Amino acid sequence: MIQHVVVIGGGYGGLRAVEFLYKYEDVSITLIDKNPYHYLQTEAYGYIAGRFDMHDIAINLSSWCSGFKERVNFIHEEVKDIDFEKQCVCLNKNDINYDYLVIATGAQTNFFSFIDGLKEHSYGIKNLQRAYNFRQKFENIIYKKLLDTKDSHVDEINIVIGGAGLSGVEIAAEMAHVIQVHSKTIGNAAKDIKIYLIDASDTILPGMGRYTILNTQKRLQKLDVKILTNTFINNLDNLFIYFKDGQKLPYSFMVFTGGIKASDLNSSIDYTKNKIEQLIPDSELNIKDKKNVFALGDCVEIRDKNGNILPPTAQIAEKSAEYVAKTIRKRIDKENSFAFNANVSGVFVALGGNYAVGELFKYIKVKGYTAYLLKKAITSAYHFGLRLRINTGFKNRIKN
Ligand SMILES: Cc1cc2nc3c(=O)[nH]c(=O)nc-3n(C[C@H](O)[C@H](O)[C@H](O)COP(=O)(O)OP(=O)(O)OC[C@H]3O[C@@H](n4cnc5c(N)ncnc54)[C@H](O)[C@@H]3O)c2cc1C
Repeated sequence: MIQHVVVIGGGYGGLRAVEFLYKYEDVSITLIDKNPYHYLQTEAYGYIAGRFDMHDIAINLSSWCSGFKERVNFIHEEVKDIDFEKQCVCLNKNDINYDYLVIATGAQTNFFSFIDGLKEHSYGIKNLQRAYNFRQKFENIIYKKLLDTKDSHVDEINIVIGGAGLSGVEIAAEMAHVIQVHSKTIGNAAKDIKIYLIDASDTILPGMGRYTILNTQKRLQKLDVKILTNTFINNLDNLFIYFKDGQKLPYSFMVFTGGIKASDLNSSIDYTKNKIEQLIPDSELNIKDKKNVFALGDCVEIRDKNGNILPPTAQIAEKSAEYVAKTIRKRIDKENSFAFNANVSGVFVALGGNYAVGELFKYIKVKGYTAYLLKKAITSAYHFGLRLRINTGFKNRIKN
């Protein structure tokens, strides 16, 4: 009997779940996303700084799904409600019944309400529209500097990144690299653009390995990024960022990467959640005591076998998706399943131009061009996989 699996969310986790479930011929799949595209957030740093284009960071989901020879149906709609008793996802026109459900709706920027003016005056990059606006702002600033014939530092522009985690650091480094390396072509006035990286924690990249932190710090200093750690933002207006210690910083624009919270769908689900609204699933990633409902990726709190919370990364979203697909197979076959057990294999931090720093399996530590090539190999392989599927879909459509 054909089993219908509904996957909500076409992000890193959702797409990996679809790829794995497609291997089972007795499974039909419906993918639902509120956006018509898959957004490659991990490449956002390069898009904002003008290194990548829109086609490098967004993939049309309908084209991608057509690569599965009509076994994967795509619905472009935001899911606001799920009826777990009736086993259906409630949509505007009709409800979609499921045998198995995978919730992979990710997370959004957490514009903390205790920082007055944060939401109104800063950009997030967890959604494509905001990254697009941010890129335009950055390009505008560069363009104005191109027109600036003065060589003096009279017109300083401060770009502020709030949050020195992986995404904040990558964005700061890439923008600083554009300004520093290309000031010969943009003009010396480009050096008036200052990049600030601010974090309340006492270090950049909190939670990451010492090697990565130290080498990232060195690279950022070389790129002239102003790092302010132990710095608490109190509030913002359209001209200044005000700090808890009474200081203030004039700024042109700010991107906030300081925190995430789970997607809005979680608020409609009556189940245990943590402070950032992530669902807390059981050890097999099921929620609501239902063996046919799974939640994975950034929208859930996932722990390793020692009980440590795993960071919300594309890597963990993909690993949890592979696990869920295999567990669904076991459930269909009425076989025993096992607890999810994963850890972070390694992280590479892109640090502007052809430079990166990273650690792999705790033992391999690399920096510079080699690390950049390794990071590039990982992201290119991911992109290549998506494109391959799209090309198959394109050929299918021409045949029909
Ligand atoms: C700048 C930046 C750099 C990063 N770098 C790295 C990195 O180097 N390595 C790494 O591993 N991770 C990195 N990450 C983190 C990584 O991008 C996330 O952890 C990952 O996207 C999580 O995958 P996900 O599938 O859980 O959610 P997402 O990829 O966010 O996908 C969620 C999907 O669900 C959809 N959706 C949400 N709500 C609904 C709804 N109600 N109805 C229908 N659809 C819905 C969304 O439109 C989206 O397509 C980075 C993040 C950023 C922002």
